[in-house]
Amino acid sequence: MTIDTSEIRGRVARACRVLGRLDLTKAATGHVSARVPGADRFVIRARGPAEIGVRYTEAEQIIEIDGDGRSLIDHSSGLAVPLEVYIHTEIYRSRSDVQAVVHMHPPIVVLFTICNEPLLPLYGAYDAPGAKLAIEGVPRYERSILIDGPDLGRDLAATLGQSSACLMHGHGITTVGPNVEEAALTAIHLNELALINFQARQLGTPRAISVEDQAAALKLAGSPSPDGQGEPAGGRSAALWRYYCSLTESS
Ligand SMILES: [Zn+2]
Repeated sequence: MTIDTSEIRGRVARACRVLGRLDLTKAATGHVSARVPGADRFVIRARGPAEIGVRYTEAEQIIEIDGDGRSLIDHSSGLAVPLEVYIHTEIYRSRSDVQAVVHMHPPIVVLFTICNEPLLPLYGAYDAPGAKLAIEGVPRYERSILIDGPDLGRDLAATLGQSSACLMHGHGITTVGPNVEEAALTAIHLNELALINFQARQLGTPRAISVEDQAAALKLAGSPSPDGQGEPAGGRSAALWRYYCSLTESS
């Protein structure tokens, strides 16, 4: 049975453009993937001879792969599976709840992995989902190498555990979610958390918010999303995603 993947490929490409527009990665490095609804296969941003960069990804550059990371498309296209496809395949294998995976190289977050400095909960109402990441803690993968094999993919998936994000020492981040948009938004919240932590340290001595206010931030952040595979149905996440999409498409 042939499954039409155009809708999910379009959403993955749009997430790439948003994350590229926000400078969460350098040029052509980084990728976004998603499960194909109703099938044991996935779509992922491919590398190709004519690519310009993550910022300019189109749906044609999103290819289908199987659960072991093998391309399911005609190789004459020149599009190739990224070397670090195992980040994606091994997380999907270990987390049935994950519908989308984002891997980016945001420089500000990478600085925190290099210096082994904590990401403190410095705000609450300013950005509750970002505060939630800091309060609950983001696991750190301590190796700084390409995740170019299934064993390394399993290592990373084990470090991620049940979290929605993972820091990768001297490398980048991986985030996951119940849909493409939530996984991308988690990457954006994590990047902003690192940016505020970084700038606060330049300005003075950052103070974590009180335990009471941390509890309020967690309550405000709420549960990440409904269970579905669709786009965020409503509320703050959907509005935020619309904003980033409009920002990206208008510039
Ligand atoms: Zn990488």
